[in-house]
Amino acid sequence: MINRVIALPDEAATLELGARLAETCIGATVIHLYGDLGAGKTTFSRGFVQALGHKGNVKSPTYTLVEPYELGDLMVYHFDLYRLADPEELEFMGIRDYFTNDAISLVEWPQKGQGVLPEPDVEIHLSYQAEGREACLKAVSSSGESLLARLAK
Ligand code: ADP
Ligand code: MG
Repeated sequence: MINRVIALPDEAATLELGARLAETCIGATVIHLYGDLGAGKTTFSRGFVQALGHKGNVKSPTYTLVEPYELGDLMVYHFDLYRLADPEELEFMGIRDYFTNDAISLVEWPQKGQGVLPEPDVEIHLSYQAEGREACLKAVSSSGESLLARLAK
């Protein structure tokens, strides 16, 4: 399994990592974003959707749980499950419909949806490192492995 650690000295580096992953994704991809509040999960997601052409702001969908982005013929779903009280709630919002066809899903606080959320392709663990952050990228499916292998080139 591929496991990579990337230093993110400033916000621009987090945005750039998001952009690089967006440009490397092929087809349906699920990325789980772990890390404490303020670790950079939303910043990463902003870099990701803006690299695919989204012009506006990107905020954590803390109250709505999911924000859809229609980017050309690509759908990106940005989840923030921080306020999810029970993984069962995901069933009520029709979670399965989000993880179909060619959509890309970015999920903040995936641990809140454990048992109901489908398995990811890549996990990104963000942590504080002095003034900056550090990302640990982990491939957890074979397509996640190919994705991280392409990213390394
Ligand atoms: P989260 O979604 O994990 O709660 P956010 O993405 O909202 O975190 O980011 C929290 C703050 O951290 C933002 O103010 C952002 O500018 C800052 N930030 C993001 N990446 C870095 C970095 N690599 N170094 C320093 N600050 C960063
Ligand atoms: Mg967030």
